[in-house]
Amino acid sequence: MSNSLPAKIVILIVDDSEVDRFTYIRYLQAETNRHYDFLEADTLASGLELWRSHRSDIILIDYALPDGDGLDLLTEIGAENLVSQTKAIMLTGMGDEKLAVQAMKMGAADYLNKSDLSASALRNRVWQVYDRLILSRQLQRSQQQQIVIAEIALRIRKYFKLDDILDAIVDEIRIFLNADRTAIYKFNPDLSGKIIAEAIVPPWLPCLNAQIIDTCFQENLSITYWDGRISAISDIYTANLSKCYIQLLEQFQVRANLVMPILLPNSQTQFLWGLLIVHQCSAPRQWQEADITLMKQLSVQIAIAIQQAELYQNLQLANTSLEQEIEERKQAELALQQANATLEIRIAERTAELYKRQFTLQESNRRWQSLLDNVRLVVVGLDAEGIVEYVNPFFLEVAGYQLEEMIGKEWLSHFLPEIEQKATAQAFSDNFHHYYQNSIVTKTGEEIVVAWNNTILRNESGKQIGSISIGEDITEKLKMERIKNEFISIVSHELRTPLASIRGALGLLASGVLLDKPETAKQMLDIATFDSERLVRLVNDILNLERLESNQNILERKWGDTSDLCQQAIRTIGAITAESQIQVIYNSPSYQIFADGDRLVQTLVNLLSNAIKFSPPHRQVFLEVEESTDAIIFHVRDQGCGIPVNHLESIFERFSQVDASESRQKGGTGLGLAICRTIIQQHGGKIWVKSELTKGSTFSFSIANRFS
Ligand code: ADP
Repeated sequence: MSNSLPAKIVILIVDDSEVDRFTYIRYLQAETNRHYDFLEADTLASGLELWRSHRSDIILIDYALPDGDGLDLLTEIGAENLVSQTKAIMLTGMGDEKLAVQAMKMGAADYLNKSDLSASALRNRVWQVYDRLILSRQLQRSQQQQIVIAEIALRIRKYFKLDDILDAIVDEIRIFLNADRTAIYKFNPDLSGKIIAEAIVPPWLPCLNAQIIDTCFQENLSITYWDGRISAISDIYTANLSKCYIQLLEQFQVRANLVMPILLPNSQTQFLWGLLIVHQCSAPRQWQEADITLMKQLSVQIAIAIQQAELYQNLQLANTSLEQEIEERKQAELALQQANATLEIRIAERTAELYKRQFTLQESNRRWQSLLDNVRLVVVGLDAEGIVEYVNPFFLEVAGYQLEEMIGKEWLSHFLPEIEQKATAQAFSDNFHHYYQNSIVTKTGEEIVVAWNNTILRNESGKQIGSISIGEDITEKLKMERIKNEFISIVSHELRTPLASIRGALGLLASGVLLDKPETAKQMLDIATFDSERLVRLVNDILNLERLESNQNILERKWGDTSDLCQQAIRTIGAITAESQIQVIYNSPSYQIFADGDRLVQTLVNLLSNAIKFSPPHRQVFLEVEESTDAIIFHVRDQGCGIPVNHLESIFERFSQVDASESRQKGGTGLGLAICRTIIQQHGGKIWVKSELTKGSTFSFSIANRFS
């Protein structure tokens, strides 16, 4: 809706002749199609002042003015004027064409000769010039509009945020149209809406973000906008508006209103996005066609901007979600890399640990294997059924079996004496015995006693898979213990016998019953002396034997002559020989011997004194030394009572005597031959006896000949 009226032409007449001014006005007003406002000045100065204050469309300038000429005024106006604002027509005198040309050069739009000026000539010139002025103004405005639209299009391309674009658009439009308010109103789906951008000059009230929920507006007006119709109201009070609409506009102090729909293309049709609004609040306003054209173009630009912004927003959203996705992927990839790295480290650590464990296990196995192979203890491994799985080399050595003779055999039935099998099986089936002692049958059929330390072997789930037993062969130990026990009982008996005799004798003497029987008292003292001497010998012999047996390496062997040793022994027993009237015969050659001389002398003294002790007086005892291929052999031969055959083996055992009471009477301890055997065995030699009852005995021993 546009209701433009024809504009009035404002004409400034600068002429010092009042008559002329009146004439011009009359001429022009004669034509009623055009309307004029006239301004009059009679001097250059007042003309310039009026022009400055009113900016007339056309100036009619008389050349000859009292305070200057018309060219001066042209110069002044030309300095300030823009071509589209004012056009000047120079009025010259007759024959002043040169002056007219000069005036045209200085910017005058035309000139008239005052001398033959007619009404029609003046009107025609004025209208021509005015039409040119209007054209020029339209051109300028059109250029300005193009500039505004170009600037806005540029801003749309420059800004991507819709708010910024809309703010820029309302600013530009308000300035260009010199309006009081420009705004953009956006519809909600229910046709309510709000002002989302506004440019306003004081003192008018801002209405940015104002929600407009006005059913009158919504129902009556919004519908027309759907068709793309424009509303141009120059004065709300004369536009025949509904009362409710006037009230709505009054809220925003609106007097003149130009509203342009902003339509966006839809899939099939177009939809009403919002309104581009221009308000004049100060006064009514005649909206120009150019204003409306501009607004139309701008509403299209806004539609483009909205779509562009939506696209941009969608793009932004897509970008954001893409970036987010990329970021998430990056994070996931990073996390994966880290997890991979951690996993690799863990695998490496675990592998290293496994290698270490495997190595430790191998090392441990190797050590165990080495230990089991080299330990001087017997080791037997059985499976859960009691079948032999492992035996160590020492076991094979002790028991005399080959490995293949044992592996895979049932342990109890093959390697235990029958008499012990049941009890042993019972012992292990009822309650596993960690310590156990039983006999084993060796390859030769002998029995050895082993003290076992048994361990159950279990798999990872705790199931019993067999056992391993480590044992010590205690056969010899048991034997030694038995011998030791016997020895102790014999020793205590042997010690008690002389002690009882000594105590008895001394008791009698102490009681005083023998005070008057000095002979008997002396006999008692002799008995006590004899038994105490025997006791001393007994103790010495026991200590001697014990020392010899406990110190295996006591011998101090060196090279010496056998005859020296024999002579020394004969000298030692010299007293006994003399007392018993027995002659010791020694005629053997001398040999070099590598031996502990003192120990050999001790042996010879023992054997010689026995030979003397068990020979009747006046007999002879022979000491003979001979050399065999590999040994030096000593013989002590007597012509005494001899030894019964059944004693020949045992005679070298401790406290072994043929006739204990007779031997004791002879001061014997029963340890002499045991000492001799120990000494000879320590030399690596042998000792033996040959004897015939009543005829005599020959005790012999051999010592290895180092030369051979
Ligand atoms: P003892 O101190 O009793 O002589 P020995 O060990 O020297 O102890 O001898 C053990 C026993 O051997 C003697 O008691 C004796 O019965 C017998 N015996 C040792 N030598 C002879 C020998 N030359 N003739 C006969 N019997 C002997």
